[in-house]
Amino acid sequence: MKTIKIAGYKTLSLVDVLEHPSFTIWTTGCNLKCPWCSNTPVVEGKNARHITLEEVLELLRDSQKLIDYLHITGGEPTLQHQALVTLFQTVKAETNLRTSYDTNASIPEAIEKLRPYTDHVAIDIKAPLSKISKYARAVGLPEKRTAKTIEKIKQGIKAALDTPFLEFRTTMVPGIIEKKDIIEISKTVAEYATNRNGRTVYIIQQFIPYQNVRDPKYRSEKATPIQKVLEAGRQASKTADVEVYIRTIETGTQRIPPPNNKHQNTAESINTPTTITREKA
Ligand code: SF4
Repeated sequence: MKTIKIAGYKTLSLVDVLEHPSFTIWTTGCNLKCPWCSNTPVVEGKNARHITLEEVLELLRDSQKLIDYLHITGGEPTLQHQALVTLFQTVKAETNLRTSYDTNASIPEAIEKLRPYTDHVAIDIKAPLSKISKYARAVGLPEKRTAKTIEKIKQGIKAALDTPFLEFRTTMVPGIIEKKDIIEISKTVAEYATNRNGRTVYIIQQFIPYQNVRDPKYRSEKATPIQKVLEAGRQASKTADVEVYIRTIETGTQRIPPPNNKHQNTAESINTPTTITREKA
């Protein structure tokens, strides 16, 4: 009987898949060490337990009238891709739900295996892929190892390009990610979006200094000011021909209207919840 090592689950989440309610599971463990990571207890496997695929299916049957997706987050879900492939296959065979996961994209072999059974992927691009030292700071790895990791991430993104709904995300971590980085990443996202058949969105997220953040230095940082996130979002929207959103604790998730839209100085609210925190697992 296959099991997944999880930290917890939430039967109804409105913030994990853009515009869709999901049943969300937090898997434990991660292969990166982002110093600003707010899911440290999940990554470290505190209070972890194993859940069988049959148990997940039973929970999904109870919730499926309220949700569109089964969403897997972490930690890094692709570390358990073998169990997830079986889970996604079974969910598709036995329910009408769609499947989704978050990933740092650094395990391309796992993304390839999951690809045929996945409807939505949210990929973190944590810094411009051309800037090794900045990426190294964002993911907490030595530069030499980060250079190899970035090559894997590029392969991972390519492996996900056939996914019907592809979401890219960047968190504006203080002292690491500035507006110019967001503009560069948005160009990369637009390049990946070219010739894709599915929907592609780019979400720029505010950093929040939660008490669970891995590096104490970031616990005493201030949240990224909403104006800074908004300005980066506007510039990204002008630069790249993809749907751009910002996500902040003050306003939830908002679409940045494209530059030719007469309402371009406003932002359109998508998710009603005013928090971006996932319910703690
Ligand atoms: S932010 Fe994501 S990729 Fe980075 S350590 Fe946390 S779970 Fe892993």
